[in-house]
Amino acid sequence: MKLLTATDSSQGFRDNDFDWCVEGELVHIGAVCDRDGDDPDGGCGCGRAFAGLNSHRATTTAMVREVPGFTDADYVEAIRSSLEQQGCDPTFAEHEAALLRCLVRDWPVGAVVERRLNEIVVRRVVV
Ligand SMILES: [Zn+2]
Repeated sequence: MKLLTATDSSQGFRDNDFDWCVEGELVHIGAVCDRDGDDPDGGCGCGRAFAGLNSHRATTTAMVREVPGFTDADYVEAIRSSLEQQGCDPTFAEHEAALLRCLVRDWPVGAVVERRLNEIVVRRVVV
């Protein structure tokens, strides 16, 4: 299935890009803190970042990748255990997984996306 993963592709496109994730790890779209609230270019950076499910770090660039053998149930479990590890409410995992699947559905494999608060837009497509 197609999944949203961390990438360093197109890092530097924006001055305030950063990538602390492990290349290729699954990412999700975390909550934005009060500090960055309505500013995707805020000092914290969470308004423009994706959160790595394994590293619990953040990146401003994510890539749609085909991950063979991965199922819907695997995806929910990956998100659930990550939320749990971070002390977050894991009951949103199923909802989040559905949201992320929906998000990447119409994008091709290799699409590099960025986040502007609640909006996720394609930067470019790597073929
Ligand atoms: Zn923040």
